[in-house]
Formats: sequence, C-alpha cells, structure tokens
Amino acid sequence: MKVAKFGGSSLADANQIKKVCDIITGDAQRKFVVVSAPGKRSKTDVKVTDMLIGCADAMLKTGNADQEIQNVVNRYEGIATELGMSKDIITVIRDDLTQRVHSSVEHKGKFIDNLKAAGEDNCAKLVAEYLRGLGVNARYVNPKDAGLFLTESFGNARILPESYDNLRKLADIDGIIIFPGFFGYSRNGSVVTFSRGGSDITGSILAAAVKADLYENFTDVDCVYSVNPNLVKNPKPITEMTYREMRELAYAGFSVFHEEALTPVYYTNIPVKVKNTNNPSAPGTTISPKLIDPQRPVVGVAGDTGFCSIYVRKYLMNHEIGFGRKLLELLESEGISYEHSPSGIDDISVVIRESQLTDEIEERLIRDIKEKLRPDDIFIQKGQALIMLVGEGCKNTVGISAKATKALADADINIEMINQGSSEASIMFGIRGQRCDDAIVALYKAFFE
Ligand code: ASP
Repeated sequence: MKVAKFGGSSLADANQIKKVCDIITGDAQRKFVVVSAPGKRSKTDVKVTDMLIGCADAMLKTGNADQEIQNVVNRYEGIATELGMSKDIITVIRDDLTQRVHSSVEHKGKFIDNLKAAGEDNCAKLVAEYLRGLGVNARYVNPKDAGLFLTESFGNARILPESYDNLRKLADIDGIIIFPGFFGYSRNGSVVTFSRGGSDITGSILAAAVKADLYENFTDVDCVYSVNPNLVKNPKPITEMTYREMRELAYAGFSVFHEEALTPVYYTNIPVKVKNTNNPSAPGTTISPKLIDPQRPVVGVAGDTGFCSIYVRKYLMNHEIGFGRKLLELLESEGISYEHSPSGIDDISVVIRESQLTDEIEERLIRDIKEKLRPDDIFIQKGQALIMLVGEGCKNTVGISAKATKALADADINIEMINQGSSEASIMFGIRGQRCDDAIVALYKAFFE
C-alpha cells in the first residue's frame, strides 16, 4: 500500500490534474492520495494558498474580500471547466470560501488558517469528484472526520499523538482516499495549518499511520540533486539517500521536501520516494533508513545564509561547571532555539538563526550574559552562512575534511567555524554570508566533478 502526495505544481491546472489522476489510477497500490492546493502555472503566477492569504488580508484590512474570493473561485472554475466537470463542484467551492471569509475575525491567526486551508480542502474535493466522474472509486475525506488532530499553534501546528490511531482506521475504507494536505483540527475544532509547504507533513503522517510500504512524494523535478540546480548546471542526481542525509540537506536549504516531514516516516522506517509528476517513469530519489552503498562518501552540498554566532570567551571556562547550561538557559528564556555550539577550552560559540534576534533581544541577551557569566569577551557575529557537506559515508573515508578545506581555500573563502557532528554524517562550515554560493559551488566541484 502506498501513500502518494502531490505538490502544488502537480495540481496547478487541468492538464496537471489529468496527469495526477493517471498516476493514481496507474498503480492499484496507491490507496491514499494527499493533495496540495493548486500551485503556480508559470514563474509569475500566484499559488492558490497565497491568493487565500490575500483574501484574509483584504478582509482584515477593509472588511471586504469579494474580489479576492472571486479570483480564487475563478481559478478552480477554470480547472473544473477544462476537466469537463459539472458546475456543482464550483457551487460547493464558492459556498465554502464564502463561509470561511465571513467567519469571525476576532482571532487573526485562526481566521487566516481557516482560509489558508481552503486551498487543499477544495482541491481534494475537486480531484475526488473528477476521479468519480471517470468511474474510479475515490472519495474525499475531511481531516476532522479522519481524526487528524493538531496543536492549536496557528500556522505552525504539530501532530497530537492520538491522530495516528484515528488515521489508521482509514485503511478499512473501500476505494481510494483523497486527503487534503497542510491542515488538521485542534481539539477545540479549529482549523490549524502546518508551516508553509506542510502537505508533505500530512503525507508522511498518513504513511506512518496506515503503515504504508512506500510514501511517494510527487513534485516537479526528476529527483533530488546533489546541489541546488540553480547554482550548477546538470548537477548529479541522487538515486538513494538516508533520512539523516535528507534531513541535513533540507536543513541547509534543500527545499524538495519539508524539513519536518521526515519525522513520522523516520520513526516508522517507511521509505520515501521523490518522483516527478511530469516524468513519472524517471527513477526518482529513494530516501530510506539505511545506506545501500556505504562506499559513497558525500551525497550532496547545501548552504544557507541568515545565521549569526554568539561568541563568548572566558579564561578557564572549562573549569566552570554549568557555564554552557547557563548560557543556553539565557537563550531559552528569550525563546531562542540554537543550531550548533562549537566550543574550545576557553570559548564557546552558539549559532542561531539571525531572524530570532531583534535589537531589543540582542541588547538584553548581551547584558544578561555579561551579568550572569562575567565573560572576558562577548560579541555577536552577524551575516554568516552555514555550508553543509553531507554523506553518511564520510565516516569511513579518510581525507574528506582535508579535501573540503582545500577547495574552500582555493576559492579564497575563509572558514570561520568547522563542526563535524558526532554522527559524522555531515561537516558544517561557517563562512561569511556573501560567499555562500561560491562555497557551495567550490565544494560541489571538488567532490562531484
Ligand atoms: N499549499 C501550502 C503552501 O503553499 C502547503 C503545501 O503546498 O504543501 O505552503
């Protein structure tokens, strides 16, 4: 049994939806289908989810979003007409959107999530209806009826554990289940969405709940590549990789798969296959628990900007019990999560996402660190990039760091920080943000060309 998730570009217009339905009906094992909202038809187009956010904004600002809602209805109507569907589905979608846009605006986050979720919800209804029109035994299932319950953190929900048992029962339903991605319900009955791109998470949750043999993630690329294809022409495709490798690459900017989506399948050992809706016969990329080829040292290179490090130095720091804990506690009390913390005997750096640091927080943090830890020196280095060289096989191969540092040196890139995680599945380099792309290309060339 497979769970197949289709991203927004796979559902952007009638032609794409036809391809999706061919894929669904082409394999009897595809019992569960998770859909995103219709995405962009061209580079300049607007995703339905963004149109819905526009509806919510207009309503909150002016108290009227008639035109914005009409634009969304038109988008679905265009698809339904081209698919030769009856007007009934458009009436269903219009009524649904009208009801959502006129719901209470008292709680802004709740109001926005309710509108945002309409993209996937109506897309699932439309796809199910179209399949039924083709004589396929398919049905739309609403996440509330299925028992997909989430924390009430609007725009950034997390699954509640009872959901898995609830969703497992879907396996008993006859026919193909068309399930909307991206949202669930809180225990209070409010619609809550995951963070953007969260339909990947829904697919993964469903795959884990029904113990699928495979979670297929259909998108618009043939596979995951070893490097961002916008930086390098014809990059090397990745045919197989481990969850850990995917997690490391996703962390540092690979956007093929949502960072949080791996967790449910990771804990249930369900393999994931990234495939292309526009070229379904391409082999794709398999992500599974174990490396099939242990000889392969490096699988990919990724990098991301927007980091900063808080550098703290104190003579005899290694003798001071609790120094690290106290430092991290100060970050915790500001609600800041940290990414890495490389340390020496007398110094420690804590790397965080720069977006977490407002002027006010920065000032308070420095003051508190000075007061509570009495360091000899403290400063915050902004504008950093983290470059990740990823591969489980790094562990068994001598000379990976040497090769990487030489490649960076040859490109005249100064390494400000190096961190090799204890798993040895990746080596991280902290460099100046401006050289991020150059560093990625230099490492790619050294390891793949
Ligand atoms: N439609 C949502 C978004 O654009 C979720 C998704 O596509 O996965 O973020």
